[in-house]
Amino acid sequence: MIIKPKTRGFICTTAHPEGCRQNVKEQINYIKSKEPIKGPKKVLVIGSSTGYGLASRITAAFGCGADTIGVFFEKPAEEKRTATAGWYNMAAFEEEAKKAGLYSKSINGDAFSDEIKEKTIELIKKDWGKVDLIIYSLAAPRRTHPKTGEVFNSVIKPIGQPYTNKTVNFHNGEVSEITVDPATEDEIRQTVAVMGGEDWEMWIEALKTAGVLAEGAITVAFSYIGPELTHAVYKNGTIGKAKEHLEASSKNITKLLKDIGGKAYISVNKALVTQSSSAIPVVPLYISLLFKIMKEKGIHEGCIEQLYRLFAERLYADTLLLDEEGRIRLDDFEMREDVQNEVARLWSTVNTENIEETTDIKGYREDFFKLFGFGLPGINYDEECNEKVDIPSLI
Ligand code: NAD
Repeated sequence: MIIKPKTRGFICTTAHPEGCRQNVKEQINYIKSKEPIKGPKKVLVIGSSTGYGLASRITAAFGCGADTIGVFFEKPAEEKRTATAGWYNMAAFEEEAKKAGLYSKSINGDAFSDEIKEKTIELIKKDWGKVDLIIYSLAAPRRTHPKTGEVFNSVIKPIGQPYTNKTVNFHNGEVSEITVDPATEDEIRQTVAVMGGEDWEMWIEALKTAGVLAEGAITVAFSYIGPELTHAVYKNGTIGKAKEHLEASSKNITKLLKDIGGKAYISVNKALVTQSSSAIPVVPLYISLLFKIMKEKGIHEGCIEQLYRLFAERLYADTLLLDEEGRIRLDDFEMREDVQNEVARLWSTVNTENIEETTDIKGYREDFFKLFGFGLPGINYDEECNEKVDIPSLI
């Protein structure tokens, strides 16, 4: 099949296996170029196929030499359809891990279900006995509750009043004003049920009950705060409510893990182009401005740089730096006053005419297509390639 990008709004419905492989290899090479990390040896990553979860799995394996199990929800190629990018990423990861002599197994299915939790626990019992670190990196549009069967849908909306601000169509650079209506009480409840911490707590409870958590086991979930500019649609909106719930869950989990000396952390990460963040109104324009400024200042990072810092300079450093709320902050460079002052200054001037010079929309677009394996150097996208790729150790 000759594979070209096909976009529908903020999603790309095709993915390129060779491009995804190269993307994974680039991240592995970055980690290999850094000092090895004295970190965990058995790592479970829930949501390991793209974005922050993929970078977590790569850092654990190639930075710490850890055995990894990845859980994700991706689709293999079918008649005339490519697999999803996450599928190709996991196939490439497993191949590289195998070459490096690292244990890696993958479970594809609904992480919110009891069935996938049981399957994962069985695998840990059989192959490892215990797990040292659990990264929880799910970003999902919906969740079926494993006990009640209720289906929840998450929405990204403000709370209380409508929110109007600039946004950009990153494909054609058109800047326009968007008004997002406030969420109903039920939409808030449903978003919290999908993106809050209930499922994270369920995972850790299930792992603990099964006796597969090592002494001192830790677990980390990711959050975002961002500047005033995006607060209405993020921090103070439906997703922010879900993140508050996630933070409350981290405290519950820490209590649960007290007797084994374990702990749960929230890591507040940087805004980056991932499949999830491109769906949020206003945020792509903010990210395009942010990237321009952070690149100019030499402090730009992608998922893999963030994850290396999480492991090497936070979780497994001699002292763990936390903010006053007890959170890990990897958004420290993004939130620097000089960076945010510059974003705010440029925000008022940016429009369709000056978008290419004022922002790094070009970098945004490149990062977006790269998520699906497109635009990588050295790949001939006019050439036939085999879209049917197996994940070697899929359970
Ligand atoms: P992403 O879309 O790149 O990755 C989501 C992962 O979840 C994928 O591996 C996908 O397969 C998996 N997944 C989704 N539904 C699933 C299901 N039902 N069962 C099993 N796996 C499932 O997302 P991301 O941007 O890396 O987000 C991960 C976390 O990081 C989220 O909590 C997000 O809020 C947070 N975060 C993201 C940003 C950002 O800018 N992207 C910034 C800070 C924090």
